[in-house]
Amino acid sequence: MEVLKCIEKILIPKPLIVVIEDVGWWNGRDGSLKNQPFRSGMSRNHDLNDYNALVLLAKSLGIQIVCGFVWCDWDRNDILKELPCSTWMGKNWHVPVSDFSILDKAASIINSNKNHIEIAFHGLGHEFWENGRLARSEFHDSECNMRSSHEIENHFRAAREIIKTSGIDTDFPEIFIPPALKHSFGNGEKGFQRLLKNAGFKIVITSFDKARKYKPPIFEKFTKECKITLIERGASPVKWNCLSADPDFSFDWPVLSLHWTNILHRNSEMNFKIVEKWVTFLQKGAENKGLILLPDIKNSIAQLIYSELAEISQTEKGLIINLEKADDLLSGCFDDPVKKILHVLAENNADLSLYLKKGKLVSVSESGLCSIVPDKKIIEFVFN
Ligand SMILES: [Zn+2]
Repeated sequence: MEVLKCIEKILIPKPLIVVIEDVGWWNGRDGSLKNQPFRSGMSRNHDLNDYNALVLLAKSLGIQIVCGFVWCDWDRNDILKELPCSTWMGKNWHVPVSDFSILDKAASIINSNKNHIEIAFHGLGHEFWENGRLARSEFHDSECNMRSSHEIENHFRAAREIIKTSGIDTDFPEIFIPPALKHSFGNGEKGFQRLLKNAGFKIVITSFDKARKYKPPIFEKFTKECKITLIERGASPVKWNCLSADPDFSFDWPVLSLHWTNILHRNSEMNFKIVEKWVTFLQKGAENKGLILLPDIKNSIAQLIYSELAEISQTEKGLIINLEKADDLLSGCFDDPVKKILHVLAENNADLSLYLKKGKLVSVSESGLCSIVPDKKIIEFVFN
């Protein structure tokens, strides 16, 4: 009986993860009726305040948010001319940003806030221009059939070049967010994950429901293929082009997917008002639903996987948290042990105390959140 009572006291809380797509456009206008990208759906140009809004959101929540960047407007050297299917201008491509100093300034905002902004890859032009006609989307067609490997590899190569000259001080992104949720997995070496892996990606965040699945995912919300870890994103609570969206999120699945325009104001100087509303809503919701706010996105992703896949079992003297399944999923993308810290709520009570036997305690917060580095995929507590 005592043991059961104690197991109830061990909880692996889920982290709040915020993913914001369609970041990086300068012209925000939806051009889809004119054979141009849908872009962010914002009816003005983006500006530096829009980057500050991302930083404000992340900083206020004390987390690192995932920003899915579209890169064509950062192509300072017009290299996308050589990749006519990647933009609406084809071979006549010329970057639509006339003053590169705005790129420099935005890059500098991002560079000073790297601990709050995780740069993810969302595409070059988001769509695909087949013989000059727009088709959804860049890497898969509207039925989620993968485009030619050769074409895809060229897009990744161009992305590497554009990012290198962007002024943003970052390695090639590790997180891939498929544009328009067009994706496929389950066909192993022949499939898209092989190309992602070859390009240097480690993680995919997308909605499994919308993807073409050649094989079902290994777990309901996660799968792994060619050493790429795929994570369920869930549905966006608000429409992609909803300007200044009222905060809305069920918190049932802790990944909040938003689009840039959702947290912005038509007058960019008022962005902070929209962001503040989201921050208050998310702080309150996270608290009510027992979600934790972690400062590092990779650690948040690890915690999400632990919270779903860790197995807690009782032993004669205490309990063991087995992280083997979770660790298999994380291996390859999380080599740094700091990122693999597990956060548990272990509430001791007067009758029964738990002591950590296997694993290294990093910290205990006031709220009783213990942060532990597992010992060979195992954490063990013994009762006093
Ligand atoms: Zn998008």
